[in-house]
Amino acid sequence: MPASTLDQVVSLAKRRGFIFPSSDIYGGIQGVFDYGPLGVELKNNIQGDWWRTNVYERDDMEGLDAAILMNRLVWKYSGHEETFNDPLVDCRSCKSRWRADHIKGKCPNCGSTDLTEPRPFNMMFKTQVGPVADPDSFAYLRPETAQGIFANYANVLATTSRKLPFGIAQIGKAFRNEINPRNFLFRVREFDQMEIEFFVMPGTDEDWHAKWLEARLSWWAGIGVPRDRIQIYDVPKGDLAHYSKRTYDLMYNYPTLGYEEIEGIANRTDFDLGSHSRDQDKLGLTARVSPNADSLARLTYFDQANNRHVVPFVIEPSAGVGRCTLAVLSEAYADELVKAPPAEKLEAVSQALQAFIKSAGRSEKLNGETRDALVARAESIAAALPEALPQVESLLGMAGADQIEVGKKLRGQAQPVADENFRTVLRLVPKIAPVKVAVFPLKRNHDGLVGTAKDIRKALQRTCMRTVYDDTGAIGKLYRRQDEIGTPFCITVDFQSLEDGSVTVRERDSMAQERVASAELAGYLREKIG
Ligand code: ATP
Repeated sequence: MPASTLDQVVSLAKRRGFIFPSSDIYGGIQGVFDYGPLGVELKNNIQGDWWRTNVYERDDMEGLDAAILMNRLVWKYSGHEETFNDPLVDCRSCKSRWRADHIKGKCPNCGSTDLTEPRPFNMMFKTQVGPVADPDSFAYLRPETAQGIFANYANVLATTSRKLPFGIAQIGKAFRNEINPRNFLFRVREFDQMEIEFFVMPGTDEDWHAKWLEARLSWWAGIGVPRDRIQIYDVPKGDLAHYSKRTYDLMYNYPTLGYEEIEGIANRTDFDLGSHSRDQDKLGLTARVSPNADSLARLTYFDQANNRHVVPFVIEPSAGVGRCTLAVLSEAYADELVKAPPAEKLEAVSQALQAFIKSAGRSEKLNGETRDALVARAESIAAALPEALPQVESLLGMAGADQIEVGKKLRGQAQPVADENFRTVLRLVPKIAPVKVAVFPLKRNHDGLVGTAKDIRKALQRTCMRTVYDDTGAIGKLYRRQDEIGTPFCITVDFQSLEDGSVTVRERDSMAQERVASAELAGYLREKIG
């Protein structure tokens, strides 16, 4: 069962060092996050899997790493200077600013409906280039990685002798000055994109669009986001981006947020290559493009069979790494009951919850919306005890919860029961887990056990499996700690290990244990991790 609220995932991600708010020591910066020790491993594994699947395992792809800064003309002809806008409104009562299409005519801060008319706000960040700040010496931080691919289309074609159809893949930073960044990693101002521009013969674009839709769904399933958790949204004509003939948005069912976009798969037609090309009137373009007097290149393909130059159509699968990270964490998250809590302890938690509901419902310190949210959440936990018991912690982390005096008592009742009877486990697909193997000595003050455990760690790490050593607690506690970060295998070195060289391997999901000879460990684990 995936996470039931986003708070559970946010709290785990912060607690265990997956994600930190950027510049936390100065109060942070809105919409910017850092990937901590475990987050960077997870992110690298996701990106690595995407690269392997899309570049190495196909015969029709090349990779690219284009710069973030580009000539400003790229963004003029791509259409971003003119159209990369969101509708901005001001609340006249509390002076806050909002994205009009996200708020349904009512200020989320103060509830006022006295809002200004929406006006277009361009989301590209500007930065000065060179030492002199004259008005023309600026560049944009790219809002998508795609344009770096289009600008290099002719370079890649010339240096690789590719024939259509072929694609160029790229992973890199993108920046958008979102009006209201929110929902943790979901809507941020700096993020990473994994993008493919796949160039095809005009007329074959619709077929390729359908093929890419299937290929992408299969990749999502492979990293632990199953097909039945994704809806395909065929974007209505009126809502399509200026370059698109048709777009499928993959919508993942995020906890708390509901269905939201994790990836867009667009048919960008001949719009981009056409826009950036010279001699546009000779190219037979189907897309409507702005006249381009600045480009130095013709971005065409020589179709030998028909002895003519064509402008390829483009299929673009584009996914954000942050939204992907949030989806895999949500999907993998589980608070699992490992043994039934004693009835009287459960009853005490239940009563503390009822007291919390009563107190929150009557509280005059909270505004209506905060009060309702707290009560609704507490009621849903009360109705789903004992399974929902670990969620008390995220209830107490919600806005306004610290104002409810009986919250402390509730925590005092719930936390020991949760610690004693539940485990939090991230059922990550092993290949993307930040740590693959953890090795523990049964006793930390025994030289033989410690030395053997450290040797095993080193040997496994040499086979490129991220392996850690830990001796800072009892074995049961160490297992729980690894479960919570999704480590698929734990190895314990005990006294029998010193005699016969075998160790205990414990599997995360089933918690089953098996004895394996140290000499066979690497092969055994490699086979299971894949
Ligand atoms: P939305 O409608 O949610 O703003 P979009 O349609 O503008 O997204 P695209 O331009 O299609 O998004 O970008 C491709 C992908 O990049 C998205 O599917 C998403 O995964 C990611 N992405 C876009 N904007 C953001 C953002 N502000 N924060 C995190 N990821 C983003």
